[in-house]
Amino acid sequence: MAKSVGVTLSEQIHTGLVVDHKLVGGLRRFPEDVEDYGGLVELHTEALVGKICEQIFSAANGETEIASVGVAVPGLVKNGVVEEAPNLPQLKGARLRDLISLKLHEHGIATPVTLLNDADGVAAGLAAGHGKLDSTIRVWTLGMGIGYGRYPFAPGVWEGGHSVVTLDDKETFCGCGGRGHLEGIMGHRSMRMRFLDMEPEEVFEAAKAGDQRCLEFKRLYHKALAAATASSVHMAGPGKFYLTGPYVHFIDLPMLRDFTQQMVKMSPLQGYSLEIVHESPEIRVIGSAVSAEQAAGL
Ligand SMILES: [Zn+2]
Repeated sequence: MAKSVGVTLSEQIHTGLVVDHKLVGGLRRFPEDVEDYGGLVELHTEALVGKICEQIFSAANGETEIASVGVAVPGLVKNGVVEEAPNLPQLKGARLRDLISLKLHEHGIATPVTLLNDADGVAAGLAAGHGKLDSTIRVWTLGMGIGYGRYPFAPGVWEGGHSVVTLDDKETFCGCGGRGHLEGIMGHRSMRMRFLDMEPEEVFEAAKAGDQRCLEFKRLYHKALAAATASSVHMAGPGKFYLTGPYVHFIDLPMLRDFTQQMVKMSPLQGYSLEIVHESPEIRVIGSAVSAEQAAGL
C-alpha cells in the first residue's frame, strides 16, 4: 500500500495523506480563514514553497516512508516548471518541483515530487473515485476559468479551455487575450464583461424566464462547450467526459448533448458520453497523489 501526499494550490493550499487512493487523516487547509484567501498571491516563491512543505510535513504526520508527492497547480506546467499561472503570477518560471523536492530532502523526506495541472488532478481524482483508473477520461472544470483535464496523464499542453470555438471577430473576452476562445464565452470574467449589468447567475435565471438576449447567450454557452468537446472527440477519440466545478449547474445536459450530436457525425466517434459529477477538494487531493504515484511508476 503506497502512502503518498497530494497537494492542490488555489486560493488555499489543500493537503492530505493518501493511502491506497483514499484520504487518511482528513484534509489540511492553509490559510484556514476565508478572509485570508488572497494571502497566497502575496507570498514570494520561496515563502510559498516553505508553506507547501510545512503542509506536506504536517500531512505526513511523522511518516518518512512517503512514496510520492503530487502538487497540482492552476496553470501550465511542464517538466516540473510552472510556465504560466495567471492566478499565482509569482510562480511563472519557478522550478517548483525541484524547490519542493530539495526542501523535503533537507527534512528527511526523500521522495519523487510530481507537478501537475490542476484539471488533470481533478480527472485523476474522479477516475479513482468512480473506479475508472483503467480507462481514459476527460473533464471540463467550469469555474472562474475553464479547465480541461485528462486521465491518464499524457505529455502535451492540453489548454482545452482556450480551444477556439468561434470565428466571430467580436469574441475577445478571454483573459489570455486570444480571440474566439471557449473561456472567453464560459469563464466568469468574460461573462461579467459581456453582461456588464448582470451576474452569471442572473443571466441564466433570466434565460429561464424567457429573456431573449440571455437565452441567446445560454445557447452560445452550450454551443461553445459542445464545439470544444467535439474537437476533442475528433482529435483524441470518443470516451467519457465529466463536467464539474462551481458553475456546472448552468449546464443544461440535453441542450449540450443535442449540440454535440450535431457536431460529431462520424459513427465510429459517437461512443462518447457527457456526465455531470460532483468534485471536492478531497477528490482533487486524491487525484494529485494518484497522478504522482503513476508518474513515479508505482
Ligand atoms: Zn484564452
